[in-house]
Amino acid sequence: MSMPEYDPNNVFAKILRGEIPCKKVYENDHVLAFDDINPQTPVHVLVIPKGAYVSMDDFSARASEVEIAALIRAIGEIARQLGIAADGYRTLSNCGTHGRQEVGHLHFHIFGGRQLGRMIGPAPDPA
Ligand code: AMP
Repeated sequence: MSMPEYDPNNVFAKILRGEIPCKKVYENDHVLAFDDINPQTPVHVLVIPKGAYVSMDDFSARASEVEIAALIRAIGEIARQLGIAADGYRTLSNCGTHGRQEVGHLHFHIFGGRQLGRMIGPAPDPA
């Protein structure tokens, strides 16, 4: 299966270009993080690379070592900055159709601020 093409009009591309607002929590040369507009937990932040990558599949294949290191390091730094590292948190990156990815720009969710449920919910019907 071929990788979907990056759509430069996706909502996170618009946030990166400053065309729509976000509640920024962190930024460096390679990474932007902001509050999810529809938070599922007391802390729900999205961490995105500034480069145009569709998903984890795309990013892991094409991104530079510097971009990959920057994103992973940022996730840890943001969790510490937000004060959730000690109690724990969850990172999640939905990828493609089976992963239920809605926005076609790679993003990692950081969920925290309360005890979370177990990892994966039931499959929808029909599975
Ligand atoms: P996913 O299903 O992993 O692609 O999740 C996309 C996430 O983006 C959802 O949690 C949405 O609530 C979030 N989202 C969509 N539009 C915005 C926006 N303008 N600002 C912040 N978060 C957004």
